[in-house]
Formats: sequence, C-alpha cells, structure tokens
Amino acid sequence: MLQFYNSLTRKKEPFIPIEEGKVKLYTCGPTVYDTAHIGNFRTFLFEDFLKRVLIARGYKVFHVMNITDVDDKTIKKTVEEGKSLSEITSHYTDLFNHDLKTLNILPADHYPAATNHVDDMIKMIEVLIEKCHAYKTDDGSVFFKIESFKDYGVLTHINMAEIQQSDRVDSDEYGLDNPQDFALWKAYKEEDGDVAWDSPWGKGRPGWHIECSAMSMAFLGDHFDIHCGGVDNKFPHHENEIAQSVCASDTPFVNTWLHSEFLMVDGGKMSKSLGNFYCISDLIEKGFAPGEIRYIMLSGHYRTKINFTLDKQHEAKASIQRIQSLKDRLQDLKENSSDEYPDEKSNYDTALENDLDAPNSLALFFDWVRATNSALDKDALSRDDVAKGLNFISYFNDVFGVLPDSGRIPQDVMDLVSKRETARQNKDWAKSDKLRDLIGSKGWVVKDTPDGPKLSSK
Ligand code: AMP
Ligand code: ZN
Repeated sequence: MLQFYNSLTRKKEPFIPIEEGKVKLYTCGPTVYDTAHIGNFRTFLFEDFLKRVLIARGYKVFHVMNITDVDDKTIKKTVEEGKSLSEITSHYTDLFNHDLKTLNILPADHYPAATNHVDDMIKMIEVLIEKCHAYKTDDGSVFFKIESFKDYGVLTHINMAEIQQSDRVDSDEYGLDNPQDFALWKAYKEEDGDVAWDSPWGKGRPGWHIECSAMSMAFLGDHFDIHCGGVDNKFPHHENEIAQSVCASDTPFVNTWLHSEFLMVDGGKMSKSLGNFYCISDLIEKGFAPGEIRYIMLSGHYRTKINFTLDKQHEAKASIQRIQSLKDRLQDLKENSSDEYPDEKSNYDTALENDLDAPNSLALFFDWVRATNSALDKDALSRDDVAKGLNFISYFNDVFGVLPDSGRIPQDVMDLVSKRETARQNKDWAKSDKLRDLIGSKGWVVKDTPDGPKLSSK
C-alpha cells in the first residue's frame, strides 16, 4: 500500500485518490525571471519521481505545473533590462523546457502561465470579497483577511503572534504587505512599468499566491489529490493557497501535501560569489550525463537535505555503470522473454511504497545487482532469471530514469559509429581504432557483436 508523509497531517498515511485509479497532481512551477538552478531541479526531479512511482503503480496521473510569469521578481527583471515582460519570461520558459527535456522529466499535461489566467484570479478575488474574506484598500489593492479563516495555519501551525512581529516586507515572496493579511491583488505602482491588468479595483496585477490557487482549481477542480513544492513553499505560499481556495469554494482543497527538502551545495547555500551556483547546463558542460544528475538528486530521501558537490559525479557514474554493465551482460544472454520479475522486486517495491524511500530501494536494488553478477560469474542463472532480471532493470529505470537511453544516442556519435563500420568493412583497422577513440571521447563505448556494433555510455 502506497504511503506518503502528508505535510498537512504530519504523518505517513495510506494514499487513497479521490477517484479510483486516477491522481490529480499540482506542482508549483518555476518563476521565469532567471535560469532555474539545480536546487529548483531537485524539487522538479522529486516531483517527476513521485509521478513515475504513481504511474508504475498503475495510476493515471493528470499533472499540472504552473509557470509563474508575473510576480515581483519577473517585473523587477523586466524593468532592469528594459524589455517587455513576455520577452523575459518566454526566454526563461524556453530554457526551463530545454532543461526538462535534458533531464528526461516526464512532461506535465498542462503548463499554465499565470498571465493567461488573470481573469480566473480576478473572479476568485471577487468571490472572496463577496464572502467577506477579502477587502480592498485605498490604493486599489485587495487583501485576504486572515482572521476570517479560522483554520489559517493548518499546514504550518504558524504562530500568528510571530508573524505580527515580522518586518513589513512588500514582496510576494513573503506575502506580508500587511503584518497579517496578504495581497490578492496589487495596485499598480510606477515601478511595475507597463505590467498591469484592468480589474474591478483598478489597474494592477495578481499576488503570487492567488496565481496557484486559480490555476490549480481551473485545471483540477476545487478538490484534488496531491500538491507539491519545495519546503520553502510551505509558508506563506501554500498556507495562503489553502486559505484562499477553501474560503472561495467552501470545500476541502488538497488531500495530500508533499514537500521536498532543500538542495545545498558544498554544505551551504549556492551562491554566485562562491562560484558554486549551478544550472543544469553548467553541469552538462562540466561533463555530467543527465542520468548522473538524476541519480545524485534522487538517491537521497526527498525529505532530507542533499548536499551537492561536483565530486558526487564519480559515485553516480560508477553506480549507473554497474547497472548498465549488468544489463549488457543479461542482454547478451537473453534467449526468451518473460512477464515476471525476480523475487527481490517485492522488497524493493515495499521500500518505494514507504513514502518513496529511494535510499532504501536503491540499496535493495544494488544488493540484487551484486547477487545477480555473482550468479552470472558462476554460470548459475537460468534463462528465465535472465529475462526476469532484464524486466527488473527496466522497471527500475522507468522510475529512476538514470540509464542512458539508447534511443537518445547523439547524432554525431551515430555518424562516427557508421563511419567506423565502413572502415572495418574496408579492413582499415587504424582508422577504425581512431574512430573508436573519438567515440570514447564523447562518452560512449562501442562493442562489436555478431549483430553489429553496440553502444553503451561510459
Ligand atoms: P521558484 O522558481 O523560486 O518559484 O522555485 C521553484 C521550485 O524550486 C519551488 O518548488 C521551490 O520550493 C524550489 N526550490 C527553490 N530553491 C530550492 C533548493 N535550493 N532546493 C530545493 N528546492 C528548491
Ligand atoms: Zn505555487
């Protein structure tokens, strides 16, 4: 039975979807004012992992990830660079999409952009005003009245007295435009440049929190199964989403909240001045394979911090190589197919079902890899065991997605392989060896088999 630690109830609970066999999932997407960094991708990879586990359990997952393309940060960048909001956000959205593909993250069903849903946000704010959960201020902003929602703090058990003591911060990031109440609609200010929408309260723009409430409810309905984000999203973002959504619809909002812990770099916060602020493209340039990045991010439990260091690549590479070489060994011996799996799959599944315990499931998987390799060394694996083993590896990789996909061998490598084949047919061994080295320098090993050349990543 699949169990998740629900941030809302603070305990592990069996997962029971609202509609049998289907999961409605919302994940907070990137704020597209800059290139997403590897910390953001830790969270996005966790969400991909969760989704793949659900799919492997037979659920049909309907996934919505928003794109935050208007907020304080995007507007600031727009003004700083003297560009239009859409020029900035479409550029960073393209980069984000590129990184999603690089990391083999399963695409969401919808990626709604906040600027396409301002009408939904305005409608929701109107409902909240009508129900006396929100009020307009003199400057034409609208605030949510926290005291009107008796369950405020249900997610984070926040101490209201503490919030009152906080500094007033005029920022979406903190939501503390007023010591307690938070902005649903922000009246236009000169520094917003030409970013503004008309509303019943005058020119302005939505607050960040209402964006996710409006978009999630537009696609998934008032009440859905799972909502995710990084731990920093819990307060105030998700707390405020709950308040707005429950008050607007008078129904429960989300059943299960899952939050992934932070990614640290070199033991602390990533920082440009320390030279350890990495984006996905930085790691690819440094020679990381996408599978290695996935491995590093997914091998820690999602509820513990991960410390990223560049040298973790070696361990990731070696681990992936162990799986790949077992796969190659089994593939060479494969004579028949099977629908079955080795017995070890059951404990592996139990570990994953226990709040996505990746470290434990990986440990069990590698125990099996070791045992299978020694059985192969002793020639003690039956034909059925070979087929079952290959099934297990592919079942594993459907969730972790770390093995290089042979369908994704780069075109330039394929070209070199075919040139090498021609050289071999012409018995030009010197040229063939040179090409082998060249293929090697691109991270691939070519092996000659009776069925032709076979490639595997180094
Ligand atoms: P943002 O683009 O700032 O809206 O963040 C996108 C996602 O990345 C959110 O779910 C954040 O919680 C998450 N996030 C931001 N920084 C980190 C980090 N260092 N480690 C893990 N997740 C993060
Ligand atoms: Zn959000």
